[in-house]
Parts: sequence; C-alpha cells; structure tokens
Amino acid sequence: MPNVEKTEFQLPEGALRPPDSAVRPQLNEGEHDDEVNLRPKSLGEFIGQPKVREQLELVLGGAKSRGVAPDHVLLSGPPGLGKTTMAMIIAAELNSNLRMTSGPALERAGDLAAMLSNLTEGDVLFIDEIHRMARPAEEMLYMAMEDFRIDVIVGKGPGATSIPLELAPFTLVGATTRSGMLTGPLRDRFGFTAQMEFYGPNDLTRVVMRAAKILGVSIDEDAGHEIASRSRGTPRIANRLLRRVRDYADVHSNGHITLAAAQAALVVFDVDDMGLDRLDRAVLTALIKGHGGGPVGVSTLAIAVGEEPSTVEEVCEPYLVRAGMVSRTGRGRVATAAAWRHIGLEPPEGTVGLF
Ligand code: ADP
Repeated sequence: MPNVEKTEFQLPEGALRPPDSAVRPQLNEGEHDDEVNLRPKSLGEFIGQPKVREQLELVLGGAKSRGVAPDHVLLSGPPGLGKTTMAMIIAAELNSNLRMTSGPALERAGDLAAMLSNLTEGDVLFIDEIHRMARPAEEMLYMAMEDFRIDVIVGKGPGATSIPLELAPFTLVGATTRSGMLTGPLRDRFGFTAQMEFYGPNDLTRVVMRAAKILGVSIDEDAGHEIASRSRGTPRIANRLLRRVRDYADVHSNGHITLAAAQAALVVFDVDDMGLDRLDRAVLTALIKGHGGGPVGVSTLAIAVGEEPSTVEEVCEPYLVRAGMVSRTGRGRVATAAAWRHIGLEPPEGTVGLF
C-alpha cells in the first residue's frame, strides 16, 4: 500500500497555518535576497519548461534578427514557477533594461503613464500580477501595447484635455497566477502567451542541485531528489526546503546533506513525503474523519480546521487537487482513495480513485 502515514488531526481550534509554513509557494518576507542569487540568468541556465524555453528562443531570436521589439509576452502559472525569473531573462537576452512593477501598484492611470513615459526604446516592462491592475490603467495599457502611445488627461471636469503622448517601443512582459481573471481585450494584446507548468521531480532535483552548488552546500544526489519530491513541483519551495535542510545539516551532520539528514530535517519542518504540511493534513483529516470523505463544502472544512475558507480554497486545495487527493464536485469536496491512504486509512468501497 503506497504512502501510508499515520497522521492525527492535531491543529488546535482557531490555529492559523504557521506563517513560516515551508511549502507555501508565495515569497516569504526576508527571502528576497536569497532568491536573487539563485535566479538563472539566461535561457540556457533555466531548468525545465522546455516548451516555453523553445518558444521564447524563437520569439526573441526572430525579433533580434529583425531588429525590432518582440511581441508582448504573457507568462501564466502558479506562484514560484519562475515567471519573474523569466521576465529578467527576456530582458537579459535582449540586452535591454528591465523596469518592474505590479498590478496592485498601478492604482491609477497616472501611475502607469509615469512608468510608460519613462521607458526608453527596447525596454522590457514587467508587470507582475497583471490581473490586479486597476481598470483605468488597464484601458490605458491597451493603446500603449498596440500603438506605443497614450492619451494623458490633464485637468478635471469640462476643462479636461487629452494630450497624446508618443512612447518608445517597448516589450511588455505580464505575469499572472490567474489568467482566467484577465479581460479579453488585455489577453488579446499579447502576441505570445507562455503557460508555465509545475516541474517534474527530475527537473526539480536539478534545481536543488544547482542551488546547492551556488550556495556552496555539499549534498548527495538522493538527498536532492528527496527535497525535490516534497516541493510540490515548485522551484521556490525546493530552494526554500534546501535552505532549511542546510540549517539542519549545519547543526547535525557537519553541513553535509545526506538523504537521512534531509528526511530528518523535513520531519522537523513538518513537511511530509508528499509535500503536505500540517494544515493540508488537517484538511484531509477533517474531510475524511469528520465527514466520511465528503462531499463537504469548503466553509465547513474551513471551520473544522480553524481557518478562513479562502485559505483552504487558495492555499491548500490547489495542491491537494493536483496531487489527486481531493476532487471538487458540484456537491462539495471529496477525498480520493489516495487521501484516505495518506492519512493511514483504508478507503471504503466506491471511493473516488479506487479501481
Ligand atoms: P514567480 O515569479 O513565478 O513567482 P520566480 O521567478 O520569483 O517565480 O521564481 C522563484 C524562485 O525559484 C527564484 O528565486 C528562482 O531562483 C527559482 N527558480 C524558478 N524557476 C527556476 C528554474 N527554471 N531553474 C532554477 N531556479 C528557478
């Protein structure tokens, strides 16, 4: 029987997911500097995502040989898969400056106008979380992307005038974790959309081994694979787990990361063999032990684990669904056979995923 782990429902009522849960794909406070050193700097150095790399090589190569700015690029995919890294690589491959901003920072059209009017020819403008840009800014962006010009409104009320402003040709790289939330007109203005996929264990092992080399950490290949296999297909998590395991190895095994050290460290940091943390396991336990495996609504599950429904829905569920442990049905969430086994129980007859 695969992956049987005895896990009791332990999260006390009202408990929040520990803020430093090691397996959240979002950037933690204080991690920024660590990440900068680990970012691949060229397409050749970028591990995995072969389709995206190949397509981008063509898009960038074609534009370079014609001496024009390449099409605007939309990078879509969950957090931590390398969208920001790829935007930096695009600018580097084009020998261009990179200007960075994010959707939430563009609250008014004026914020975007200031950014756009400062661009010089060939610059790459990166807008992270582009789906969260305010509507007036988004509308200004349409014309900027299409014609490299904008209309700046000066004054208010009947006396307001619109002044056309020519922009230097630039390439927009937008990143989004929620491509479904992008409006049609904005999506249509990107010449090229790249869908970043979760990484397989081999690519993720390469990410870990590469990061270890940069950090000057000695690590056995099987330990790298162990870290990778608990990293939810996400390089940001893989690099974070490597740093935590390194801390453990510094204290317990003279800094050298063996398979045993990696496994022991990941127990300490509460990351199980599937990459689930305490809250993920609590959700599975509530679903199975509290509700017979479902179907049950998200809000009921959230109450059971003392969390906000949005946390369960946005933080735990995507991975549980992707890992094949939870399925979403019209009547609520249902635990699959893999989930039953993961918490150490035999799934009853008729459980989803039981053949
Ligand atoms: P996103 O913008 O999609 O949230 P980032 O580009 O910030 O993700 O990547 C998160 C971290 O993961 C970066 O610090 C980088 O070191 C690492 N990373 C991402 N993709 C790769 C890759 N293909 N190869 C090696 N490291 C990667």
